[in-house]
Amino acid sequence: MPEGDTVWNTARVLHRALAGATLTGSDFRVPQLATTDLTGWTVRESASRGKHLLLRLAAPEAASDVRHWTLHSHLRMDGAWRAYAPGERWAARPAHLIRVVLRSTPAVAVGYHLHELALLPTAEEESLVGHLGPDLLGPDWDAAEAVRRLAAHPESTIGEALLDQRNLAGVGNLYKCEVLFLRGVSPWTPVGAVPDLAGTVALAQRLLAANRGRWTQSTTGSLHRGGTSYVYGRRAQPCRRCGTAIRKEELGERVTYWCPVCQPAPEPAQP
Ligand SMILES: [Zn+2]
Repeated sequence: MPEGDTVWNTARVLHRALAGATLTGSDFRVPQLATTDLTGWTVRESASRGKHLLLRLAAPEAASDVRHWTLHSHLRMDGAWRAYAPGERWAARPAHLIRVVLRSTPAVAVGYHLHELALLPTAEEESLVGHLGPDLLGPDWDAAEAVRRLAAHPESTIGEALLDQRNLAGVGNLYKCEVLFLRGVSPWTPVGAVPDLAGTVALAQRLLAANRGRWTQSTTGSLHRGGTSYVYGRRAQPCRRCGTAIRKEELGERVTYWCPVCQPAPEPAQP
């Protein structure tokens, strides 16, 4: 599940493969960029902001008045970038999912099933990511600001508020479910009734940070198959803490997993 940590890892892979390289060819397989040719452009750096990927490029002087451009992409549920050595077979995903190929001498980057693929002046990046709350894995992570943004909507359920990237950027469904289990908070609890919002935010940041640099996402400390989560993806399996069957239900647009005993339903509001 591409969440903030996966996107951070992807940005690092692209940075290591391409930073400083001059592109020897590009092949966009999306209508809005079909005629774009980045041959001769230089890759400056690759960065992530929440779940958004920002590949920052420098255009050759002759190509454009604007020198610094950003190739933006979003992985959503199913997107991925892979870096291959020149000549290596592109085996990660089926070819029909390819949306862009960036060739250079040291590496070839292939983007599969990317969303929101767009090329824009780097100076205008904020138009795409400026609405995001503090980035859990960003160099400027600001826990107090994330808490402030969450607390501004006390009536929202905490399950939905944690997924709202305007509050804090990087939490997806897996971390949402796991954080709330570990805090003993029901996903349906209104934000205003969560006992320790700052502690919840701090835990989300620690869980994402712990999974930087590896592709297996674990919140339990175990990297063994079937042992990497407490509740996420474990419907009807026994709770690791109390043995009760884990439940799965829809909350807003996403499904949520929780233990009805460890995460008791919120008290109904008093009339
Ligand atoms: Zn339980």
